[in-house]
Amino acid sequence: MNNESDVVVVGAGHNALTCAAYLAEAGLTVTVLEGRPIIGGNTVTEELTLPGWRHDSCSSAHVVIQSNPMISRDELKLREKYGLEYIVTDPAVVVPFEEDDALVIHPDVERTAVNFERFSRRDADALRVMMGEWDSGLRRAHAYFQAGLELPDDEWSIRYRALRARSAWDVVMSNFDHPVIQRAVMWTSFATIQPPERSGTGALPAAILAGRLKFGWTTPRGGSGALPNALAAHVRDHGGEVHCSAWVESFLVEGGHCVGVVTADGTTYRARRAVIAGSHITTLSSSLNVPAPRLDDAASKWQPGLSVFAVHFACSSHPTYRKSQGSVAAVAGALGSPEGLRRQVDAALAGRVDADDPWLLIVDSTAVDPGRAPGAVVKFLTIAPELLNGQPWSDSAADALARDLLAYARRYVDGLEERNIVAMRPESPTTIARHNRANIAGSCHGGEFHLEDGSVIPGWLDYRTEINGLYLTGSTSHPGGSVSGRPGRNCARVVLGDLGIDATTLLSTP
Ligand SMILES: Cc1cc2nc3c(=O)[nH]c(=O)nc-3n(C[C@H](O)[C@H](O)[C@H](O)COP(=O)(O)OP(=O)(O)OC[C@H]3O[C@@H](n4cnc5c(N)ncnc54)[C@H](O)[C@@H]3O)c2cc1C
Repeated sequence: MNNESDVVVVGAGHNALTCAAYLAEAGLTVTVLEGRPIIGGNTVTEELTLPGWRHDSCSSAHVVIQSNPMISRDELKLREKYGLEYIVTDPAVVVPFEEDDALVIHPDVERTAVNFERFSRRDADALRVMMGEWDSGLRRAHAYFQAGLELPDDEWSIRYRALRARSAWDVVMSNFDHPVIQRAVMWTSFATIQPPERSGTGALPAAILAGRLKFGWTTPRGGSGALPNALAAHVRDHGGEVHCSAWVESFLVEGGHCVGVVTADGTTYRARRAVIAGSHITTLSSSLNVPAPRLDDAASKWQPGLSVFAVHFACSSHPTYRKSQGSVAAVAGALGSPEGLRRQVDAALAGRVDADDPWLLIVDSTAVDPGRAPGAVVKFLTIAPELLNGQPWSDSAADALARDLLAYARRYVDGLEERNIVAMRPESPTTIARHNRANIAGSCHGGEFHLEDGSVIPGWLDYRTEINGLYLTGSTSHPGGSVSGRPGRNCARVVLGDLGIDATTLLSTP
């Protein structure tokens, strides 16, 4: 085996693979090293409950990545050539607001606004205005922000910065009046698991809603793992290699330049031009053989943020949501009021569980992708404290919370009765952290950085490190977690620029 290539990429989460694929597309030879026996990180599809039932262990919704030109322009031909297929779901999300009624959000602004009119004409118009402004200019400013580029020098960028600076809570409550609409928009604004009352989250209501109103609850056919599989196929097709069970223990620095890595089995992989760390930022400096005070400083600012709690079910039938006229199946269901969410976030940050009226996402990918299982694969996702009473979660405590969530869901949803559940697997923050060593403390979106000025950012802003040739990607770099592919694509742009490789055709848009 030749252990030298132009670039070594550490980790095979979708971001590291995205970066690897762009570098391979630009003509570099790339070696990707993944510590787990399978690629994908938190974009992975596994038989978690029973043989033949293919669950998304972590992410299911690939909505954010739809605005990344890697997908929207198919820059790497993942859709045309490497088998990646996305399903735009309709409904996008169903929001039960009473035990026998629900509001439906469609992948269409006008149809959704008409559904809003049932509760408030004013709120329906507020939705039209919010989405109109997003499309007129805020969307473009957001794309530059996500791409890690200077925002255009125009009025929309000024408005976008002002919007971002606010809190999601403030934006939702000041734009919408009716409690049902507030419930739906607040629920949606929390989809990237950031405390809604925190300043700096003000763009989330429009950004997340715009994604759902255009792409539904975008579901990759075959499961979340379809994305890393397509990326790995692209890398191999371009002469690269992707190795699993290859945990990187240390990074080699010679003469101030990162020249390679060493894996747990003692194998050295040398890089002629660059090393990309898709590993967690806090593990990096301790894996170097030289001091790196700037990386230490970044690591010291990192905190896990809110941890998540998931429950995976194998079900004999699809969950359905009761509406005033009939009932509806959906890929995504949205439970919980703004007040319930506020209490739950406060409790989680104080180390307690509040499951009285919690924010709960119910995902049934098999509603649109039945080939994944002999029945329905269903997932609950909510937040929970990293530690319970100061201790890691026990299996029995996780089971108890899963059963509480089930009882709560049954108030609004049919098809989750005991007789419909073939198997159940709760995942607490403790086991989610074990699943992927990047999910430190059960964090699911890469955590967050608390800066000296009091602001909180989801991803470290610099893809370069103080070590020449060593770069950062992954959910601890800008713009943070989610299946966005942004940290990967942004990092590739910086690396190619530093290597003097013209990437203007490949990466022409934000
Ligand atoms: C339960 C859950 C549900 C979620 N749901 C959604 C959702 O529906 N939609 C959404 O957009 N986002 C969701 N997220 C968040 C999203 O999945 C992640 O933010 C995103 O997948 C992170 O991708 P990544 O490539 O940056 O890193 P990761 O997916 O964390 O991948 C990092 C990879 O690097 C490997 N690695 C790390 N260090 C080393 C090393 N030293 N050597 C070798 N390999 C290493 C790890 O093993 C891992 O495979 C969810 C997350 C969780 C946990």
